[in-house]
Amino acid sequence: MAKSISCKDAGKDCNWSASAKSVEELMSQVTEHVLAEHKEIELNSENIASIKSLIKEN
Ligand SMILES: [Zn+2]
Repeated sequence: MAKSISCKDAGKDCNWSASAKSVEELMSQVTEHVLAEHKEIELNSENIASIKSLIKEN
């Protein structure tokens, strides 16, 4: 089972997506991408919770 996430699922006009074996690993990729490309998104606990709700299992 892999976890995956894409910016499109968050309604962003961005082709980025990532997958990882664990939520922790995936969230570290998300954090890196948000800091690089979506500086307007504040990584507070509320936003992190909504990002986590977009994670898919595949
Ligand atoms: Zn993005």
